[in-house]
Amino acid sequence: MLTFKADQPVAGNALLRAIQEQSGARVQDCYQCGKCTAGCPVSSFMDLMPRQVMRAVQLGQADLALHSSTIWLCASCETCSARCPMEIDVAGVMDALRHLALARGIQPAEKNVVLAHRVFLESIKRLGRVYEVGVVAGLNLGTLHPFANVVDVGLPMFLRGKLNIIPERATRGEVKRIFVNVKGT
Ligand code: SF4
Ligand code: SF4
Repeated sequence: MLTFKADQPVAGNALLRAIQEQSGARVQDCYQCGKCTAGCPVSSFMDLMPRQVMRAVQLGQADLALHSSTIWLCASCETCSARCPMEIDVAGVMDALRHLALARGIQPAEKNVVLAHRVFLESIKRLGRVYEVGVVAGLNLGTLHPFANVVDVGLPMFLRGKLNIIPERATRGEVKRIFVNVKGT
């Protein structure tokens, strides 16, 4: 069970500073009204509510925030950011926490979500667009379920002409250059 540890002063809170630098969000302004949590479409699947993630950051509880499944289940829909009366970019905070978790080599609580991100981005990087067959194949192989959704979803879609077996390239190099530039920043 996840529990909060004793309070930690905001001054000298390395987590709070790191999140503010990365996202620009002033998490210290959160007064725990819960509007972010109330509007979050995936909160029922999370181990920490978005409001609790904000509190964990305020308290400098890096272990709690960075090991939570919440930061990986967040769909970046930005409902929380739009609802926050203190104009805190809660979605941006979730994004910053994901970056920080990866930078610290923390094993993501939701491995398949990370796999989905990687497979999706690899498709964009190579082709400039999503190649659905390749993405599904990558996910199936990565999750060790090579035939998942092949007969019940993939085949009917293919028969209706909704799936291209041959990948189409949308751009030649432009998108790849964006990836190189982003990595270099
Ligand atoms: S951005 Fe993430 S945390 Fe915010 S409402 Fe959407 S899913 Fe929930
Ligand atoms: S809506 Fe904003 S102020 Fe309210 S709990 Fe969420 S982050 Fe904090």
